Amino acid sequence: MTKEPLPRRSFLRLAGTLAVSGSLGPTLRGAKAQMSKVERLKAALRGERVDRVPFTCWHHFGLEKKPGENHAEATIAFYRKCDPDLLKVMSDFPYPPPEGLEKLSQPEDWQRIEPLKNPFPEQIKALRLIAKELKGQALFVETIFHSWNVAEKLSSKKDLVQLKENDPKLFKKVLRAISESQANHVRLALDAGAAGVFLAVSAADEFVTDAQDYLKMGRESDLMILDAVRDKELNILHVHGKKPHWDTLVTYPVQVINYSVHGTGLGLTGARTKFTGTLMGGLNEEKIATQSTDELARDIQAAVAAMQKRRFILSPGCSVPNDISPEVLLGLRELARKG
Ligand SMILES: [Zn+2]
Repeated sequence: MTKEPLPRRSFLRLAGTLAVSGSLGPTLRGAKAQMSKVERLKAALRGERVDRVPFTCWHHFGLEKKPGENHAEATIAFYRKCDPDLLKVMSDFPYPPPEGLEKLSQPEDWQRIEPLKNPFPEQIKALRLIAKELKGQALFVETIFHSWNVAEKLSSKKDLVQLKENDPKLFKKVLRAISESQANHVRLALDAGAAGVFLAVSAADEFVTDAQDYLKMGRESDLMILDAVRDKELNILHVHGKKPHWDTLVTYPVQVINYSVHGTGLGLTGARTKFTGTLMGGLNEEKIATQSTDELARDIQAAVAAMQKRRFILSPGCSVPNDISPEVLLGLRELARKG
């Protein structure tokens, strides 16, 4: 099987085949009448039958130095191209460091972290524009990188570990302050129309810290963010990493868990034994950009078969490469529509 990215010719061939099978329509195949994106997603969350498995996909746009309008425009263009059932809005605007500081390293720098009312104003602007464009045709969730990760970006992984070891009290105070800001942001995001959050947790992983340490040092700051969305029915926990602390993470109050099947080596049926909510994943984020159509179709079929179309959202296990070709996205869109 070729490992080359979906060439234009084979994509056109694929699109042609699908156009024929698609014309039969789900009703004639004996399934339920075609659902809207919102109906399909809500049915998946409730564990009900779906006409086909909902899917989504995302990547970064690298527009964090530009105004929110540019981010909204890129997001909507991506939405139109990929046509997902759920739009996961990327959020790359940096958390503002205390005035006059570029990177935090000294204890006195960290002391200056205070909760902010609106830490990502350009992102809120973008969310409002996105909501206006979507007109309720699809639900969208706001991406939140957990506060541990935000603190790493404000300094460095190494400096943050040092802070945790040298002054655990200050470390926890910093994460709490950032989480308070993030909870404020989440409330503004919901107000702008987001259906919930996509909380990316990267430090609850054996390669970053052990489970006991995470329980003591990180969990509280994650739960502060989730508490701000406790009334919403579409909160997704993104489990980032190859050896995640499953026992901790499955207790988080979310309806959906997204993780990397291929990165963790844990299959969907294995994940189902750990978490009874909706699972989201199945696609190989590291290979998708260069997979052949057959390989991608096999991944989709395996995931859909494993989940029996119940409580499942087809997606990559993490962000796909930013330079993924439009042909691959279109191919994914067509194949996912058969799921
Ligand atoms: Zn990830």
